[in-house]
Parts: sequence; C-alpha cells; structure tokens
Amino acid sequence: MKMTSILLPLFILLSLIGCDRVEPPVRLHGKTMGTTWSLTIPNLPTGTRSGQLQLQIESSLENINALMSTWRADSEISRFNSSTSTEWFDISPQTHSLLQKATRIYQQSGGAFDPTVSPLVELWGFGHTLPQQGIPDDLQIKSILQHTGLEKLLLDDSAIRMRKSIPQLQLDLSAIAKGYAVDEVARLVSAQGIENYLVEIGGEMRISGNNPKAEPWRVAIEYPHIEKLRSAAVILSVTDAAVATSGDYRNFVEIDGKRYSHIIDPLTGRPVTHNPASVTVITTDCLSADAWATAFSVIGSRKGVELANSLQMAAMFIEGDDDKLTTISSDKMMKYITNTPSEP
Ligand code: ADP
Ligand code: MG
Repeated sequence: MKMTSILLPLFILLSLIGCDRVEPPVRLHGKTMGTTWSLTIPNLPTGTRSGQLQLQIESSLENINALMSTWRADSEISRFNSSTSTEWFDISPQTHSLLQKATRIYQQSGGAFDPTVSPLVELWGFGHTLPQQGIPDDLQIKSILQHTGLEKLLLDDSAIRMRKSIPQLQLDLSAIAKGYAVDEVARLVSAQGIENYLVEIGGEMRISGNNPKAEPWRVAIEYPHIEKLRSAAVILSVTDAAVATSGDYRNFVEIDGKRYSHIIDPLTGRPVTHNPASVTVITTDCLSADAWATAFSVIGSRKGVELANSLQMAAMFIEGDDDKLTTISSDKMMKYITNTPSEP
C-alpha cells in the first residue's frame, strides 16, 4: 500500500507583473497543519508592522493546533478521543463553536460531511496508525459504522461542553481545520484595519478586497490530475469570499495498484469512487467552504449541483480524465468563472 500526499498549495495568480505600485506587496508565510500558509497584502497600512503580524498569526495557528490537532496527543480533541468516558467533557469556546457549525453542515449535507469518520480513515490507511494491508472486509466496515455519526456527539450549548453517547466515538477535524484556521487568520488581519488581502492554508483561502492591481483576485483551480498539477483548469475572479477545493488527486491510498480517495463516504464506510476529480466551493467563510468541498466530493456532481442550488451555494465540480475535462457548476458559481477548461 502506498500513501501519496503532495502538499502543494493551489497556485494563485497574484497578477503582480505590470503592477505599477512603488511598494511591493507584503507576503508572509510559514508552515502549519502539515502544509504551508501564506498571506499576501498589497499595501500595508502605515503603522502596521509585518514582523509583529507574522508572530500574531503563528501564535493563533499554534493555539488552534493545541486545541484541534489529532496529530498532537495532548490537544483538546485528542484528549476527548482517547477517553472512553461518556461523561461531559469541558471544551474551549472555539472548539464548541466549530462543532456547532460542523453539526449544521453534517445535517444539511445528509451526513456526507461527518467529522466522526476517523475509525474508517484509520481502517483504510489514512490515519496515524500503521497502514492496513489490503481492502478491509465488509464485516469490519459494518462494525465500525456502528461507531460513527455526528449525532452520537452531544453538545451542551449553555455549559460549553460535549460528551460521547458511545465510548468508541472519535472526532477528526481534518476536513474543516484548515478552513477554520484561515477564518481565524482573516479575523486577525481584518482587526488590524487591513482591507485587501489573501490568506491561504494548503490551498483553502479567504480573500478580502482587491489584489495588488486593484482588481478582484484571480484564483487558478488546477487540473485535478497528478501529471498536470499547477496548470490552471479554471480561473476564478473573486473578492470578499472564501474558496476551498477538495480532490483525491493529491491525496490517496493505493491498494493492489488501485487508487482510493482519502475522502470516505460516511454512509457506506468506503472511500468515494465516483468522479468528480475535484470540487471547489465559494462561500463567505472558509470553514464552510472547506467542509462543503468535502461533502460535495461524497455527494457527487449530479445531486451536488441540485443541493448547492437549493442552498444557494457556489460549487463547481471538475470531472473527466486526461483527455476531456468537464465542469459542472451551480448557478451561484457562474459569476466567478472567467473561462472554461481547455487543454494547456
Ligand atoms: P484535504 O485535507 O486534502 O484538503 P478535505 O478537506 O476533503 O481534504 O479533508 C479530508 C480529510 O478529512 C481526510 O483525510 C479524513 O481525515 C477526513 N475525512 C474523510 N472523509 C470525510 C468525510 N466524509 N467527512 C469529514 N471528514 C472526512
Ligand atoms: Mg475539506
């Protein structure tokens, strides 16, 4: 079994060439959540020190990891996961608010986005434990499905605490954590009075105002194929919104020569097998964009477009193979798309 995970951010057209500003844009960057983050600010307001901003961002990301990372044994979520108690467990307001939003998306997506899939993620070899050899059998999958489902997590809104309704319940915030962290960094940057910026973690991004050319930011959605990464399939024109993309072309397991997506269908307990090759969602906050990009990957394009339209969400599904790519977009997505995909 081979696990492939190439952690390059989606590439972003910053349109810097031909920029006639004297001051170059400020670009801060670093590493977090097993990937990279970056912040681009066309013009820093007088009095704002970029060194200080860098430190504030690093400390905010550190706080988020200390609460929510399942890669850290002492994080709030890891402590909750490792306990088999079904008693109430006090949590931070940040985790509480994130789980409230996650619950809403779990319900609206009919369970397609489910942050309790962790035991299935482990079973299929995407987790922290040693990779599983071969394809798990039906009985194993069936028995683990008894322990998943976000309705098994009880949230107490008045006392800011949560509890498991079964001892085996596990939380995995991987499909939402980057989006949440992007929102937190955006909040921090906006609080400094900075109006124009683009912040991005592992390709999930939040855009405010205009780019260095005083135009909407241009975001390139790459070809969802490993051979053509970093070439643009679709270019979006975005201002004041969050953009997130999910796909199995960067992150998958290979069992007996066959590729399996790292996204699990929580209803079947198996990796999603159908196209789309990638799903991009644009909405106001990055947490929702991130969660919905994962949810729509499970739901698929046909039902996904219907659901996106009924919820008035902007979603774009890129499907097809190397020879021909098709984009299927919800109504609200149309205004962001500047081109249709063609072979580079
Ligand atoms: P990426 O991390 O590549 O940006 P996603 O945001 O789609 O991709 O998150 C995928 C991760 O979330 C998986 O690696 C797994 O840990 C977890 N996951 C898998 N399937 C689901 C699902 N249906 N709902 C919620 N989380 C999931
Ligand atoms: Mg996601």
